[in-house]
Amino acid sequence: MVGRLLVLMLSACALACAIGASALAGLRPNPANDPRLLNEPLDSYRYDYAERCRSKVPPGVRAMQHWLEDNVRGETWSIIRCEPLGDGLSIHSEGRAIDWALDAKVRRERRAAKRLIRTLLQKDANGNPHALALRMGVQGLIYNCKQWYGNAKKLGPYTYCFNRKGKRRRHLDRTAAHMDHVHIELNWPGAREKTSFWQSPVAGGTEPPPSGGTGG
Ligand SMILES: [Zn+2]
Repeated sequence: MVGRLLVLMLSACALACAIGASALAGLRPNPANDPRLLNEPLDSYRYDYAERCRSKVPPGVRAMQHWLEDNVRGETWSIIRCEPLGDGLSIHSEGRAIDWALDAKVRRERRAAKRLIRTLLQKDANGNPHALALRMGVQGLIYNCKQWYGNAKKLGPYTYCFNRKGKRRRHLDRTAAHMDHVHIELNWPGAREKTSFWQSPVAGGTEPPPSGGTGG
């Protein structure tokens, strides 16, 4: 009984600590400018389409989920689901996309989403655009009628929200328009934790570099 109680207390504490940490941690400075990462070779642009429905969430996607939980307001809605999209499958079918709940109607949630997207697409201190996105293997983002894919310079219009003439459609479904969540896709190297961010100590948070390291 005592053991069970202790476990309960510890998990309550872990939850409280996690919430505390997410309120405290943030995206400043941009992790892409961490000295332990900045001068590592930058990952290339790469887009991987989904080929089949899988049953297991890849490790890099779990790592991304934990990183979001530690650093960004919001929560996970959905990751893996077999989902047709156009002629193919959505990236969720392979468990390589995270729907991260942040409602554009709620000011602080909208701000958190914008900060996340800005941080991912910002130039790093070496002048590389989209540095954190590339280092994490992020291949696509959708939020509030805007999208970013692959090597597009910046966010552009998300097709669902606009008609052929480029005019914003009315009566949009808020979820389909991604007004209530950020859709974050990883390419396969990111999903397999093979990109520079996941290979670096920066992925683990703000711990110091392992002993013996130069630390930069
Ligand atoms: Zn999604």
